[in-house]
Amino acid sequence: MQPNGPKTYSFALGGWGFMLGLVAFGMLLSYVGLGWVISGLIGLLVFFLSLPILIMLGFRWWLRRTIASDSCPVCNFKSEAIEGSRFNCPSCGEPLYVADGRFLRHSAEDVVEVVDYEVDYIDEGEYL
Ligand SMILES: [Zn+2]
Repeated sequence: MQPNGPKTYSFALGGWGFMLGLVAFGMLLSYVGLGWVISGLIGLLVFFLSLPILIMLGFRWWLRRTIASDSCPVCNFKSEAIEGSRFNCPSCGEPLYVADGRFLRHSAEDVVEVVDYEVDYIDEGEYL
């Protein structure tokens, strides 16, 4: 200890203490006459604080535009997929793609219609 040395005071401000200190400092500066600096700093602070909210809103808007929700044309299973993507139905595995928010079958034009015929079995004895 130095009895006659300069006294130093230090205090730690964390979290809200720091913010209150900032506001107090700002009030002091505006009292002195640097109000335009403070309003600029506050504007900047408000901008940076609202930036994550703006990004979230933009992301939600983008998601709503990009994600299509429809049901599988084969098994009617309801699911979501990205617009323009190709995927397999999570329920039946049918290859699907998304166009205009609707799920369409990948191979709809390649499907060969199979018609069941009833075949009567003929006994070998009737062959002759
Ligand atoms: Zn399906």
